[in-house]
Order: sequence, then C-alpha cells, then structure tokens
Amino acid sequence: MKEFNTTSAQVDTIEQRKHPKQLYLLFFTEMWERFSFYGMKALLLAYMVSQLKFDEPKGYSILGAYAALVYTTPMIGGYFADKFLGYRRAVMFGGVLMVIGHLVLAIPQGWSFFYGMAFIICGNGFFKPNISSLVGTLYEHNDPRKDSAFSLFYMGINIGAAMGGFLCGYVGQTYNWHYGFGLAGLFMILGLVVFAIGKKSLGQRGLPPNEEALRTPRFLFFTNEHLIYIGTFLVVPAVVALFHEYEVMDYIMFGLGGICLTYILFVAFNLQKVEREKLFAGIFMIIFSTLFWAFYEQNAGSLNLFAMRNVDMNVGGIQLPGLAINNFLPPGWVVVLSFFFAWLWPYLNKRKIEPSTPLKFAFSFILMGIGFYVFYLGCKNNTDTGLISLFNFVMGYFFIICGEMCLSPIGLSMVTKLSPIRMVSMVMGIWFFASAIGEFLAAKIGSLMSVPREIAEANKPELSLPYYASILSNIGLASIGVGVLMIVLVPLVRKWMHDVR
Ligand code: GLN
Repeated sequence: MKEFNTTSAQVDTIEQRKHPKQLYLLFFTEMWERFSFYGMKALLLAYMVSQLKFDEPKGYSILGAYAALVYTTPMIGGYFADKFLGYRRAVMFGGVLMVIGHLVLAIPQGWSFFYGMAFIICGNGFFKPNISSLVGTLYEHNDPRKDSAFSLFYMGINIGAAMGGFLCGYVGQTYNWHYGFGLAGLFMILGLVVFAIGKKSLGQRGLPPNEEALRTPRFLFFTNEHLIYIGTFLVVPAVVALFHEYEVMDYIMFGLGGICLTYILFVAFNLQKVEREKLFAGIFMIIFSTLFWAFYEQNAGSLNLFAMRNVDMNVGGIQLPGLAINNFLPPGWVVVLSFFFAWLWPYLNKRKIEPSTPLKFAFSFILMGIGFYVFYLGCKNNTDTGLISLFNFVMGYFFIICGEMCLSPIGLSMVTKLSPIRMVSMVMGIWFFASAIGEFLAAKIGSLMSVPREIAEANKPELSLPYYASILSNIGLASIGVGVLMIVLVPLVRKWMHDVR
C-alpha cells in the first residue's frame, strides 16, 4: 500500500521535525514559573485596595512600578548571563530569588509586601530572558523548528498563566490573600525543582562563557559570581525604598526609555544601510508595542477591579469568582487561539496573502480596540444594573487576544530577524523593556478609572460603572486609531525591512 510506504528520507524529515526532549524541560519549568508569576500578579491590585486599604491611584502606581521593574531587570539579567553566569546558573539564581519573593509575600505582615515584590523583580530579571535564550540554544541558527519551538514555549507560558491566574485568584479572593500568594510560591518551587533535576540533560548548553574566569577571585576572595549574587541581594532594599517613593518611577522609566532609544538609534546609525534600515523597522515596531502593552495590561489592573465590580459572574445560580475569571480569560484564549493561528499563517502564506509583520501589528491594535469597544458597549447597554454579561466580557477578551496573537509571538521572531545577529539579545532586552514602559503607562491609564472608596465600598455596580465606561471606549477608539495610522505607515516600514516579511 503506497501511502504506508515511508521512505528513509521521509523518516528523516519526521525525525527532524520532532523537538529535542530538553524543550519539554524548559516548557514545564517556564509553565510553573508563569503559574506563580501571573498567580501573584492577579492578586496584587485587589489585595492593595481591599486589604492594605491603599487608595486606588496609589494601588495603580505601585502596580505600575512593580510591573515596570519586573520587565526592566531582564535587560540586566540577560547581560550578566551572557557575560558571566551562563543561562543555567542565571535561571537557577533567578528562580531561587523568585521562590523567596513568593514565600515572603505569603507572610501576613505589613513589611513583607514590598520585600516580596522586590525579590520577584530581581529574580525575574535573571529568570525570564535566560530561560528563553536556553530555548534558542537547542537549535542551530537557521533550524526551521525554531519558530514552532517558540510557539510551543509561548503556549507553555500561557497554560501556566491560565492555571495560576485562576487558582491563585480564586484562593486569594475566596479564602485568604496570603494563601493565594503562598500557592504561587509552591508552584515556583515546583518549577525550580523540575529545572534542577532536568538541567543535566542540557549538556554543554547554557554553561558560563568562561568557567575559569568566573572562579577567579576579583575582590578579596569574592569571585564575579559571588559579587553578582551579593550585589543583587543589596539591590532588594533599594527596590523596597523605590516603592516607598514611587513618584520617582516617572523619572526612572522615562529617563531609561530616553537612554535606550538614543542608544539603539546611535547603534543603528553606525550600521551599513541594509542592516540599519532593518533595525529601524524593528525599532519602529518596538515603539508601537509600548502602546500595545499600555492598553493590553489593563487586564492586570483596572479590569481586575472591573471584573469584581461590574461583570455579572452569576451563571445558572452559581457565583463565579471575578478575579479568577479575569486572569484566566486572556491566557486561556491564547491557548485556544494558538491552534487557529498556527494554522492561519501558513495557510495564508501558501496563498501568498500572509500579512507582513507591520501589518500584523496594525491588525493587533484594531482587534484590541474592538475588544475594548465591546466592553464599552456592555457598559452602555447596562447602565441600570451596572453589570455587563459574562458573555460580553468573554467576547471582549476574544478580540483583545486575537490582537495579542498578531503582536506578541510575532514580535519575538521579528526581533531575531531584524536585528544584526550579534545584537539579538540586546534588542530582545529592549523588546521586553518596551513592555516595561507599556506596563507603567497602563497603570497611569488604569488610575483614570479609579473609583472613590465610598462608592467602591457601597457595592453598587451602577455607581462604579460610569468610572469605567468612557475610558474603556476611549482606549478602544485610540487603539483602532493607532492601528489605522500603522496601516498608513506599512509601506515605509516594509521598504526598511528589505527581504524580511
Ligand atoms: N505574556 C507573555 C509572557 O508572560 C508576554 C509578556 C510580555 O512580553 N510583556 O511571557
């Protein structure tokens, strides 16, 4: 029978398409780490407002500072790993710091809150960029399996995020906030144990670039490795101090943003024409991604409180936990839609109508704008009860996540294609830093939706709804506007991209 007659060449191709088993080690490590990361993030704002009794604008500022710092440190953690530690040690060290952070958060004491977050910020800086770089080391530069490896990895991130957001959100809101934080900590330990047991299978990958130099004492009897670890522990109280003076964050983020942009433009101007223009195209899209995250990250901020106050979570007489649902929906949709997009792009490609990367970015804004507008329509049609239906909420997220699928995974591969090979990790750091600025702006936008304490505590949805409605509609319209502007600019960016699509 002809169709079962597999030739050895075909077997080779099938073998080559299979991913190395180490990918699954990294997949599960990252899955549990994201479980704890998003599980904790789900609780943050609601905990500050309802338990620590922070005013909402203060809650948003602290959330913004946390979310911004957590995506700023990967630039530094990536640098130390490249230069000294290697990816594996960086991941272990980052993981240990994150475990400490989560466990400190679980302590029901006033001081623990800022310390816990500071440990997680430092830990994420070492963990997040380097686990992704480890995925890259499993494949040769031009290996065609690389894209699908990153897609699988992105799915692992979101399976973890969906479970963590749901479970920690549920436990935190329903039982006890500190149990929620503790649960996040337990899963971070699980992630770290998985990595510690399996890391031997990575062989030579991700080892320090110069083991010998790493062991040589640099100061008294301290080696570079000791100095990095000690230095990081010293940064923790400095981050805590920053939380106390959170107004300073405005200067830090805009200052760092300015420095990064000037630096990367300076680098670009010193390149040959083709490399320079490709990098310009990358920078253009990175700048726009900042705005994407500024709108998108309402999820972990204003939409958390909105879900608890203004979404009808009663389904067939059962009251669903708002916090858990809001944090489950985006990564849940990512997992479902990953299958659709994994089919869609090659399908369009075969017919030669796959949109280019900048056009996908433009669509991502338009889709996200539609999603926010769907939330707004829910508000507009329910001013009397103040509650929008869960279906309305789920559908709004459907469009927002279609937008995410056109930008977030696409952006990762865009960075690897448009930056000169020797600069990929640096540009990747800047890609994450763009989301740091985005998260920071997100908190500023979120705080425009602050509900005064008396209204929030009166527990009357019809009174809190107006605080959200008009801003949600403005976000929707602004996002669609940005998308249209990008469409106009697509031809210019395409020209800069040369042979890259
Ligand atoms: N949700 C993705 C993650 O957690 C992307 C986050 C980002 O790039 N800001 O990895």
